[in-house]
Amino acid sequence: MFRSTLLRWYERSRRDLPWRHTKDPYSIWVSEIMLQQTRVETVIPYYERFLARFPTVPSLAEASESEVLAMWSGLGYYRRARLLHQGVREVHVQYGGEVPTEPEKRRTLPGIGRYTNGAIGSIAFGKPEPLVDGNVLRVISRLNGLQASPRELEKSIWAICERLVVGKAPGDFNQALMELGATVCTPKTPQCPTCPVRKFCEANEQAAPLAYPPPKVKTPAKAVRLVALVVTRGARDNAEVWLTQGTLALFGGLLNLPMAEVVDAKSDECAAESFAASIVGRAKLHGPLGPVRHELSHRRLTVDVYTCSGRPKGEGRWVALKGLDEHGVSTLTRKLLGATSAQERAKAGPQSPPRPRRASKSPQPVHKPGPRKAAEGR
Ligand code: SF4
Repeated sequence: MFRSTLLRWYERSRRDLPWRHTKDPYSIWVSEIMLQQTRVETVIPYYERFLARFPTVPSLAEASESEVLAMWSGLGYYRRARLLHQGVREVHVQYGGEVPTEPEKRRTLPGIGRYTNGAIGSIAFGKPEPLVDGNVLRVISRLNGLQASPRELEKSIWAICERLVVGKAPGDFNQALMELGATVCTPKTPQCPTCPVRKFCEANEQAAPLAYPPPKVKTPAKAVRLVALVVTRGARDNAEVWLTQGTLALFGGLLNLPMAEVVDAKSDECAAESFAASIVGRAKLHGPLGPVRHELSHRRLTVDVYTCSGRPKGEGRWVALKGLDEHGVSTLTRKLLGATSAQERAKAGPQSPPRPRRASKSPQPVHKPGPRKAAEGR
C-alpha cells in the first residue's frame, strides 16, 4: 500500500529532469555521479553539455583526462570526474563498452559505490536494487521513527530499502523516495499536511518530523592562507600564464596557478618571496593583490596574489589566457586571474604601479604543499 501510494504520487508529481528521459546506463551513471553533493539545478547544464561532448562509453573512454576535467570545470569535487573516466575506460576495455547488468561486476568499477550501483541497477536495468542517499535516509528515518548512531541508522535503512525496493518499477520507486525527500520531506520544512504518505509516517504521527534523523555533528571548515603566483609571458592579446597540476592537492588534478600554503612565515610577503624564488628564481615580484577569499567543502581559503615574469621551473605549462575554457582550470584560479586583471586595470588609471619587490636569494622554508585529500567545492 505504501509502495503503490508513493508510486502514484511520483507518476503525478515528478520533476521533468533530463536524465529521466533515458534508460541508458551510461547516461544514468554520469547523472548520478554529477548529482553527488551537487544541486539538481546546477547539474542540468553540465549533464547536457557533458553528454553532448561524450555521448557514449567509447567517446568518454577515448578522451584525455584534461578534456574530461575541462567539461567538469566549475562543478567541483573533481575526483568524481576522474573516477568516472577511469570506470568508463574499464567498461570500454573489459566489457566491450556495455555497462554490466550484474551488480557485483559494476561494484568493482572505479567510482561506483553502493548508492550509484543501486541507481544504475534499478533505473537503467529495472532490477530490485536498493539505494540510500541523504534524501532516502531522512525519509525512511521519519517514516519509521528511527533514531540511532549514524552508522547504525544507515545500516537499518539499507536493510529496509532492500525489502521495499522489491516489486513493481524498482527504479521509479527509488526515484520516488528521493523525489519525496527533495521536494516534500525536506530537511527543515517538511510538508507533512500535504505529504502523500503521511498516513504511513511515524514522525507525522508524533508531530515531530524534525526529530528525525538525529542531527550530525558538523566539522567546521579549516581556515587556510595561501600565496599564489601569476607568472605570465607574451603581449596582452596573446598573453600566456604558467599553470601547474601539482602544487596543491585540493583541486583533484585541475590546472592551477602555482600556490603554497603559508604556514609559519612572519609575513605573507616573506612567504611569497620564498615561494616565488623556488618557482622562478630571482624575479621582480608585484603585489599582493587581494586577499581573495574562496570556500571549498572543508576549507576557507584566503589567497594573496603576486605577479611576476620569468622562466618557471618544475612541472607545468603555458596556457593562453584567452583559452582557459579549453583546459581543466580550477574555479579558484579563474577567480584569481579575474581579480588580478581587474586590479591591474584599476591600477593602470591615475595611480603608479606597485613597487617591484625582488625575490630573496635564499628561499626560507616558509611554505609547504597544501593540505591533501579535500576536493574542490562549488
Ligand atoms: Fe516526511 Fe512529513 Fe511526509 Fe512523514 S509526513 S514522510 S515527515 S513529509
